[in-house]
Parts: sequence; structure tokens; C-alpha cells
Amino acid sequence: MVLKVVQVGDPVLRAKARPLTVEEIRSSKIQTLIVDMRETMYAAPGVGLAAPQIGQSLQLAVIEDKSEYHQKISAADLKTRGRKSVPFHVIINPQIELLTPPQNIFYEGCLSLAGFMAAVPRAEKVRVHCLDQDAKPQAIEACGWYARILQHEIDHLNGRIYIDRMQSETFSTLENYQAQIKG
Ligand code: ZN
Repeated sequence: MVLKVVQVGDPVLRAKARPLTVEEIRSSKIQTLIVDMRETMYAAPGVGLAAPQIGQSLQLAVIEDKSEYHQKISAADLKTRGRKSVPFHVIINPQIELLTPPQNIFYEGCLSLAGFMAAVPRAEKVRVHCLDQDAKPQAIEACGWYARILQHEIDHLNGRIYIDRMQSETFSTLENYQAQIKG
């Protein structure tokens, strides 16, 4: 079932989400939520979706960067962003460590700020410890665009939105951003 994505201004986006227990993760309630969040992410479409974005203040996010999303992006842009396809996976109760300073600057958007983009400095490399959808501990080392996705989604679980970190003078409608790129 495709869920409604809440928009900026909803207090759930500013709350620190609560962690899930192993029992909860294995429950049909959370397993169904994961299925629904995956469907919602595909429908958007987006490369990540955090539970607060569908109104649930839980430390859970789904991520997938499909190669079909890259078809309209030039090889050079994919390369400078370090963007490669990332298979579907779930991160639960994540702890993130930045392995490089947050100095990598690219535009990003958010499904909860529909129609806008801004340049956001992010770390090139991160390490994440989390549980997966089977409640198994996972250690992820990521770089490039995948590292950016992880930083963006884990921010959501801590009540942060990219506008807190953006270079505010770059804040732009999607339309103006695209016009600039093409121009
Ligand atoms: Zn977002």
C-alpha cells in the first residue's frame, strides 16, 4: 500500500524517532510497514524514505538507488557524484560515523519538501552500524551518493531535514534548478 508522505511543517519530521526492539522488527506490523514504505519509495519515486516521512516516529528507513534512475543522468554527472546503483535494503536503529569532513557539495531534494532542491555539503565517506529487516546487525561503509543518501535518511531519524544543512542561498524550486542546469 502506498502511504502518504508528510510535508515539512509536520512535527513528526522534527521529532527524534524511537528505536525498535528485535521483537518489533520481526513483527508482522513492522514487516508490513517495510513493504509499504518500499512501495511508497518506488511510487514517489525516491532513493530513500525514512519512517517519520510517513508519519511514524521510528528509527527505520528504506533505501534503493536503481540503475533505471540513472538513465537520464550523464555519465560525467554520475561519476562526479560517485553515484552507483544500490540494492534495496532497510536500516534500523542506525549509528552513523562520518569518515571524511562534510565538504562534498551537490544539490539534493527530499520527498517531504516536494518541488525544491538545494546544495547540501555532505561527507564523502561514512560508516553505519544498524540492524537490517531481519534484525541482524550490519556494518555499512559507503561513499559518494550512497553515503549522501545514508546521511539524508539518518538525519530524518534525528529530526533533521536537509534545509538545516543546506547552503541557503542555493534553495531553489525544482523547475528553476532544472532550468539552470539546462541553461
Ligand atoms: Zn528526505
